[in-house]
Amino acid sequence: MEGYKFFEQVNSAFDQAASYTDFDKGLLSQMKICNDVLHITFPLEKDDGKIEVIEAWRVEHSHHKLPTKGGIRYSMTVNEDETMALAALMTYKCAVVDVPFGGAKGGIKIDKSRYSESELERITRRYTYELMKKNFIGPGIDVPAPDYGTGAQEMGWILDTFRQMSTDINAEGCVTGKPVEMGGIRGRTEATGRGVYFGIKEACDNKEDMKNLGLEPGLEGKTFVVQGLGNVGYHAAKYMAEAGAKMVGVAEIGGSIYSEKGIDLDKLMEYRKEKGLIAGFEGTETLEDNSSVLKSECDILIPAALENQLNEKNADKIQAKIIGEAANGPTTAKAHQIIKDRGALIIPDNYLNAGGVTVSYFEWLKNIQHMRFGRMGKRFEENSYKKILSVIETISDRKFTDKELGFLAQGGGESELVDSGLEETMINAYNQINEIRKKHGVDLRTAAFISAINKVGIIYGRMGIFP
Ligand code: GLU
Repeated sequence: MEGYKFFEQVNSAFDQAASYTDFDKGLLSQMKICNDVLHITFPLEKDDGKIEVIEAWRVEHSHHKLPTKGGIRYSMTVNEDETMALAALMTYKCAVVDVPFGGAKGGIKIDKSRYSESELERITRRYTYELMKKNFIGPGIDVPAPDYGTGAQEMGWILDTFRQMSTDINAEGCVTGKPVEMGGIRGRTEATGRGVYFGIKEACDNKEDMKNLGLEPGLEGKTFVVQGLGNVGYHAAKYMAEAGAKMVGVAEIGGSIYSEKGIDLDKLMEYRKEKGLIAGFEGTETLEDNSSVLKSECDILIPAALENQLNEKNADKIQAKIIGEAANGPTTAKAHQIIKDRGALIIPDNYLNAGGVTVSYFEWLKNIQHMRFGRMGKRFEENSYKKILSVIETISDRKFTDKELGFLAQGGGESELVDSGLEETMINAYNQINEIRKKHGVDLRTAAFISAINKVGIIYGRMGIFP
C-alpha cells in the first residue's frame, strides 16, 4: 500500500506502550533503533550463464542479549524498512516469551519461482558467505532461521557453508530450522503454527474474555478463516481443526474459498498440490477477489501470510470476533484501532507467532549442548514409572496390560519435551500479558509491548557505557 511504513508502525505501537513505563526517553530511543543494518549486493551466475545482481539485507535490531535471532525471508516484498521492522518485532517477541535473544531479521529480494534449485543454493551460500565475512552470523553472534519463502533446505545450505569456513565447536548452532539429520530439532517445522494454536486456545479458554465477546469458552465448534496455507497457516489450521474448531474459509494467492459447512484441510492440500491453487475446491464457494474471505462471518480470523493485510481499506468489514495474528505485522495501526473499537480481541503477532523462535531456542540449546533432549532421562523416567506401577500391581492385585504399561510408563523424548516446552511458554506468556492488559486497561498488543519494554529496558538500563 502506498506510503505504508512498517518500521514506523511497529514504533508507534512501541511508543503507545512506552507511555505505561517509566524509562528515560533516551533509553527508549536506544531500545527502538536498529543496532546494525547490513545491505549487501552480490552477483549470481544464472544457469544460462547470465549475471544478475541480488539484493539482500540482515538487520540486528538489539544487542541487549546475544546472539541475535530471526528468520530470513525470500520475497519480492523484501526491503530495508521491512527487514528493520521485522527485526524489531523479533526483539519484542523474544522478550515476551522469555527467549534470551536480541532480535534480527534477514531478507533476499527475489521471486523464488524464477530460480532453479541450484541457483537458489548458490544465492543462499553466497549470502551466508557475505554474512560471515561481515560478522553477521555465528552461534554466539546472530542465528538465522526460516521465514516466508525459506525452510529446512535453505537452513541446511547455510549451515554447510558456515561449517566449511569455521572451526567453531558450536558451528551447528549458527542457524536453526535445519533438517533433523543436520542438527535440527523435532517439532521445529510445525512450531509456529502449533504455538498459534496454543495461544488461541489459551485465549478461548478464558471464560470472562469469551463472555465479553459473546462466545462460549473453548475451541470446540468455533469457526475460523485462515489467510495463507504456508507452513504457519497450514499447521495452525491443522491443530485448530484437530481441537474441534471448524475451518470455513481460506484465502490464498490466486483465490479464496468459503463453506459454511466446513473445509477438509487435508483434502484441500491434496487439491492444491494437484491444481496449483485452491479455487474451485469441491463443496466450497470461490470468492471473487482473494482477500474477500477475510470479511466473511467467522469467530476467529487467522492472517498467516504477510504484513499489512488488515488495513484501513478492509478493517471495518472484518466480522471475526478474534483475530489471531500468525503472520508478522498483518494488522496496520489504523486497522487495529477500527477492529478494537468494534470490540474484537486481537491476539498480537509479537506474542502469538513466537512458537517458531521458541523452538529455535530449544534447537540452539540442543546444538550448543551437543545432545538431544531426553537422551539422558527418557529411560530413567520410564523405568521409574514402571517401578511405581509394579508396586501398584502388588498392592492392588491388578495386572496392567502391555498397552496400559506403554501408555502409563512414558519418558519424555525430544518431540514430547519440545511440545511441552512450547505449550508452557505460550501459556505462561499469555497469562503474563493478559495480566498487564487488565492492570492498565489496554489491549493485548500494548500489553505485550509493555512486557517486552520492561524486560529489555531493565537490561539496557544496566549496560555499561564504554569509552
Ligand atoms: N521467522 C520466524 C519468526 O518470525 C522464526 C525466527 C527464528 O526462529 O529465529 O518468528
